[in-house]
Amino acid sequence: MSNSLTGAAIVGGVCGQPIKHSMSPVIHNAWIAAAGLDAAYVPFAPAADRFETFIDGLRGGAVRGLNVTIPFKERALAAADTASDLARMAGAANLLLFGDDGRIHADNTDGPGLLGAIAVQTPGFDVTAAPLVILGAGGAARGAVAALLLAGAPEVSVVNRTVARARDLADAFGEKVLAHGEDSLPDLLRRAGLVINATSLGLGGDAGPAADLTLTPESAVVMDMVYKPLRTEFLRRAQAAGRRTVDGLEMLLRQAIPTFEAIYGQAPSSAVDVRSLALKLLGEA
Ligand code: NAP
Repeated sequence: MSNSLTGAAIVGGVCGQPIKHSMSPVIHNAWIAAAGLDAAYVPFAPAADRFETFIDGLRGGAVRGLNVTIPFKERALAAADTASDLARMAGAANLLLFGDDGRIHADNTDGPGLLGAIAVQTPGFDVTAAPLVILGAGGAARGAVAALLLAGAPEVSVVNRTVARARDLADAFGEKVLAHGEDSLPDLLRRAGLVINATSLGLGGDAGPAADLTLTPESAVVMDMVYKPLRTEFLRRAQAAGRRTVDGLEMLLRQAIPTFEAIYGQAPSSAVDVRSLALKLLGEA
């Protein structure tokens, strides 16, 4: 955080429960310091049953923008007066912007973060060129489907342990999104251009999804949204099969860029090596 805050400082932040381990304050405050901004980015952990009261209080203008993380993303969308197409399609918001008129606008930068990570780590990969496979049907999967469809994906197959949840997700998006149980996975993998793990499997070093990634075409890209550890077992298996990979940390870092621009009104400095900062926080450096 800047050491020279004045009464005119722009305040942004992140709220979640718990929030202690969020990397967002370190990332945004590093960008604030590099730009010499009169600004701060602060963590908040409102009580789960008072989230709406907390957000409503910010209509007074105390904070310009707020990232929202687990478990509040769906409630954040509901608490807003207006929402971007992406937030509406994703059914969740990870960014709330507070206008001077007291109104709240919801946005979702997770999807752009996902697309940005793919562009940076697998340059030249075209999400419009082949069917895509998403493992998982929770909030992260839904946000990914929204972003990939808006980017022109021809067909997205959602594979989930609980098929009914995959079906609910597919129904919300229309004919380009197909729901499957885990038994369909081998056939789907054989024609996949991109495979994304959007389940929580693999977190903390556990075994990732049981997908046989050697079945994918050689040109396929494999992405894991899980970033603790950075090199998940899923990504290790993809690399062992010779596939190009995208990690969840890059997605997290990429979603922070449009967030910073929306709150502080300028692009973050590319001179700050936020990936190295984040790797240190993860104990990976
Ligand atoms: P969520 O809503 O709780 O969904 C969890 C998903 O994982 C569900 O599809 C669930 O299947 C599946 N799952 C959990 N345990 C399973 C098991 N033992 N076997 C098979 N499937 C299992 O979580 P979320 O918010 O979507 O987040 C998913 C992951 O994405 C988390 O690890 C989160 O940290 C990560 N994420 C990363 C970023 C980033 O920037 N890198 C952003 C957002 C999320 P069922 O429906 O059958 O329970």
